[in-house]
Amino acid sequence: MRECRVVDDDPWCRKCGAEGVPRDTVTRPLAHEPFGHRPTTLLVRVRRYRCGHCRRTWRQDTSKAAAPRAKISRRGGICWALTAIVVDHLTVSRAAAGLGVSWHTANTAILAEGKRRLIDDPCRFDG
Ligand SMILES: [Zn+2]
Repeated sequence: MRECRVVDDDPWCRKCGAEGVPRDTVTRPLAHEPFGHRPTTLLVRVRRYRCGHCRRTWRQDTSKAAAPRAKISRRGGICWALTAIVVDHLTVSRAAAGLGVSWHTANTAILAEGKRRLIDDPCRFDG
């Protein structure tokens, strides 16, 4: 288990633009690059804020660490799996076992990331 926190402070209310007050912290577990053959969980500590003006609450933005609702971290988890499959010819089931997630979860995340990269940067793999 490794812990990390979101670095970027995110205190501005999405609704009225006032500065919010940090209330508490929640953790978001994400499957991460395995350590040896053991699955690793990254615990991302996410600050929650409340706006004193309009009472709206929100969480710090974690989109750099993982896609919304994703269970696997983007850089350490999905990129590890994508590289393992493309470069080391690992199967999706072994990548899923390495991440400690189900085959379906791994497969969906890997395909989405692969697609995102090809569409964002189509010449990336042309060398
Ligand atoms: Zn507000």
